[in-house]
Amino acid sequence: MGITRRDLLKLAGVGALGAIAFNGCRIPDRELRVESPVALPEDQVTGRDNWYATLCVQCGAGCGVLARVVEGRARKIEGNPDHPLNEGKTCARGQAAVQALYHPDRLLSPLLHGQAVDWETAMAELAGQIQQNRGRVLLATNPLRGHNALVAQTFIQSIGGTLLAYEPLEDTVLRTAVKGLFGQDTLPDYDIARARTVFSFGAGWLETWGSPVRWGRAYGAFRQGRPGQRGLFFHAEPRFSLTAANADLWLPVRPGMEGVLALAVAYVLVERGMAHPPAAAQLTGGQGLGALTAYQPERVAAAVGIPAERIREVAEVFGSQRPSLALVGGSALAHTNGLFNARAVLSLNALVDNIGREGGIRFNPPPPAGWTGVPPAPFARWRQALEEMRAGRVGLLIVRGANLIYGLPVDRGEVEEALTQVPFRVVIGPIADDMAPYGDLVLPELEALEAWGTDWPEPGPGYQTVTFQQPVVRPFRDGKAFGDILLEAGKAAGLTLPWQSMREAVQDGARRLFALRRGAVRAADEEGFFMGVLQRGGWWDPQATGQGRFTGERLPATPPAPQFAGDAQEFPFHLVPFTPLGIHDGRGAHLPWLQGLPDGTTTVAWQTWVEVNPDTARRLGLLEGEWVEVISPRGSLRALVYVHPAIPPEVVAIPVGFGHQGMGRWANGRGANVFSILAPLTDQETGAFAWAATRVRLRRTGQRQRIPKFEGVVRPVQLEERPIILVTKEA
Ligand code: SF4
Repeated sequence: MGITRRDLLKLAGVGALGAIAFNGCRIPDRELRVESPVALPEDQVTGRDNWYATLCVQCGAGCGVLARVVEGRARKIEGNPDHPLNEGKTCARGQAAVQALYHPDRLLSPLLHGQAVDWETAMAELAGQIQQNRGRVLLATNPLRGHNALVAQTFIQSIGGTLLAYEPLEDTVLRTAVKGLFGQDTLPDYDIARARTVFSFGAGWLETWGSPVRWGRAYGAFRQGRPGQRGLFFHAEPRFSLTAANADLWLPVRPGMEGVLALAVAYVLVERGMAHPPAAAQLTGGQGLGALTAYQPERVAAAVGIPAERIREVAEVFGSQRPSLALVGGSALAHTNGLFNARAVLSLNALVDNIGREGGIRFNPPPPAGWTGVPPAPFARWRQALEEMRAGRVGLLIVRGANLIYGLPVDRGEVEEALTQVPFRVVIGPIADDMAPYGDLVLPELEALEAWGTDWPEPGPGYQTVTFQQPVVRPFRDGKAFGDILLEAGKAAGLTLPWQSMREAVQDGARRLFALRRGAVRAADEEGFFMGVLQRGGWWDPQATGQGRFTGERLPATPPAPQFAGDAQEFPFHLVPFTPLGIHDGRGAHLPWLQGLPDGTTTVAWQTWVEVNPDTARRLGLLEGEWVEVISPRGSLRALVYVHPAIPPEVVAIPVGFGHQGMGRWANGRGANVFSILAPLTDQETGAFAWAATRVRLRRTGQRQRIPKFEGVVRPVQLEERPIILVTKEA
């Protein structure tokens, strides 16, 4: 069900507050004040539902949502229609937030050396460890923004330690490219809705990449929002993903050759006089086409796996049907030449002169009023962190949302050895994940719907936006918020920290926004303003836009070739890992709704599968549902064969996120962990994990089972005269 702001007000049945004015994108129908029932007695039955604006943390996009609460229980999540990022929409992962909240395997109490203890004992232990280990603390978290980032940074500065964020499929390469080409510290937005042509390289922007709800909405406008004009969409990726399936033309580019393909398009733009002259001069060092000879379509066609005529055709459209827009992400950046690929694709935007323009790249300003973020550290830095642990330079390790043992592409023994060299380890989380067995102290964390916080979405909508997170229900389990754990334990250890609690920190943030005297919420006083941002779900200022310009330099005369782990004779297939729609990079693996969400193209759920081309399957004698061993130079795993007519013969694809040891009853032991067979290669320039640079071979096991998928369960019925799907093969 979609919900409008008018619906929301009707459902809430609320009284007027009278002191808050909403400005900005939309004027609300009338003002609203709702008291959260968090503090109400359990047995008070009102028969009424209330909707609370808060934040979705099920992925890193940072959408604003509304939680429907009935009798103190969260029942349903909807998009906040007022929030500028997602404008009333959510995705399946966002919906599953209520299942995370009421998960039966949530931790019940703190555990000290495996024994249940009360919070007083646990916090006293943590405070003691903080006191003993000043200057020797490593705080390892998921990427942070908003007040979790502020509190973590303040904590670590106060104690003199290191704060590192970890994400298995890090975005270091994209951030470095954006900084280098546009001088930006924040990721840009893409004005997909107003583009006429979109060309994406590896970026699954209709699935899990970036801000998928925002861009999914924009996709609707791009295709159908302008009468008589349907946007054209090209997508280059080795795997036939859901995003590829939505494209007008899918280009199955060879892994690691995305940058060369982009520059072959650039070649045609310059050759045909369609390139923006200043950008062309910048990128060719003033030499024009001569500087791009190495990228002539006819020269590179075989290497990139796309016929030269097809490259020229696409380039002509991209150059002429403007505004046109190029995006890059996902596996295109997960190579040893990832930064080259990123720069090459993003430079196309300068060549079609879309920088900062309608239908082009739209810059995001830095967040307002001291808001901050902790982006993921590159894999190379994590290797160094393991070294530091091994060398005994870390006295206290605090881990929150950083599943190092699961995701780091180094042998489990190596990570275990490093962890065990740390005298005291604390693991914080709502559920015991793969890291929990390594925690001397395990602390149950509140879920987002139970806790205070803030966020600034990245990428944002092109202007300053802050989302407020508030507890919409009383805690289901006896936990504490991550920020509260740091603040309480830090205070008890004698650290000087500016806030007593996360609520106080968030309220302080609201005070700073109030002092700006601008944006979508105004009020007569600070208290009214705080109420206003909670009711509206945040604060944003459409006038505070980002600025940037293209500062790209001359492109390399010859492209850096991607390196792969594994000899092509011994390991004939490129392994392309991908994030499935539901469990993402594994963070949603504990939720049965997400485990059961069918993959967008294969419809497989609940298991690890490997997508194999029909010719390859025939040659190896593989049938659908056969268990195969997928062997890389680093290790092997078992997966079920899915014979996929649209995967290139030299590629196999496997979803990440399965194969946990822990994370509750639905994740534990289910499927296989792809990270465990990926080679520890990095992008040559940034040190980021090159997670798409491993080759594999397949070995039959002779075992077979029915593959858990929806496709083929119900006989397809032809609804129209013409066939719904045509499978074509290019000569
Ligand atoms: S895209 Fe991410 S933040 Fe937005 S609703 Fe989905 S899971 Fe939540």
